[in-house]
Amino acid sequence: MRRLVLVFACAAIVACATSPLGRKQFILISDESISEQGIASFRQMQKEMPASTDTATVRYVQCVSNSITRQVPRLPDTANLSVPAGWEVGVFASQDVNAFALPGGKIGVFEGLLKVANTQDQLASVIGHEVAHVLARHSAERASANIPAQLGGAVASIYGVGQLYGMGVNALFLLPYSRSHESEADLMGLDLMAMAGFDPRASVQLWQNMAKASGGQKPPEMLSTHPSDATRIADLNNRMKSALDIYVAALARGEKPNCR
Ligand SMILES: [Zn+2]
Repeated sequence: MRRLVLVFACAAIVACATSPLGRKQFILISDESISEQGIASFRQMQKEMPASTDTATVRYVQCVSNSITRQVPRLPDTANLSVPAGWEVGVFASQDVNAFALPGGKIGVFEGLLKVANTQDQLASVIGHEVAHVLARHSAERASANIPAQLGGAVASIYGVGQLYGMGVNALFLLPYSRSHESEADLMGLDLMAMAGFDPRASVQLWQNMAKASGGQKPPEMLSTHPSDATRIADLNNRMKSALDIYVAALARGEKPNCR
C-alpha cells in the first residue's frame, strides 16, 4: 500500500527525476516551492548577519561567481537541471569558513572562507560546487527524504517543507549533504569551473586546505554541511584529465577570468 502511494506521488507531483550524473532521485517538492524557500531563507540570513563592507572583497567574490554562473547554459542537458531565473551573491562579514548556494539562485560567501580558498581558482571551486548542489536539486531531494510518504508532495508544496516540520526555513538548508550529493557537486562543479576558465586543479588544493584547517581550534563550518572524506580528492583527480580538456577549450574561447 505504502508503495502504491509512493508511486502515485511520484507520477503526480514532480517525481522520480534523474540527477545530472545519472542517479535516480525521489523528489516531492517542485522547483518553484523549494526556490521560494531558498530565497526566503537567504533574506532571513541577510537580516540576521551583517553584510561585508569590504567593497573590494565583494567585487572579487561577485567576479568569480558571475564567471561561474554565466557558464550554466553551456552544461549538457540543462533541461534536466533546476536552473534559477537569476543568481545573486551575498558576502557576509563573518570569519566562519563557509559558503552555500540555495535554491532560487542565492549564493552566500563568508569572508572567512577566503582564508582557506586563497586564490580565485580555489574560490571558483567552492562556488562551482555550491552552484552544482542547486542545479542538481539536492536540497529538494534531501527535504523529500524527510516527508512522510503518505503526505506526498502536494501537502509539502502547499505548506512548505519547513513549516510542515515546524523547522525554520534556515534549518532545512543546514542539514549535511550526503556523500552522493557531495560527490555529484564536486564533479559538476569541476566541469563548471573549468568551463569558466578557472584551473580545475585548484579544487584539489582547496579540499587539502580545508582538511588542514580542520585540524585547528575551529574546524571550517563548511565541513559540517559538506562532509568530506578521503575519496573526494581521488574522485576529483579521476576526472581531472577531462576537466583539463574543458579548461584548455575555455582558455581558447577567451575565458580568462581575472578576479582580484
Ligand atoms: Zn557540498
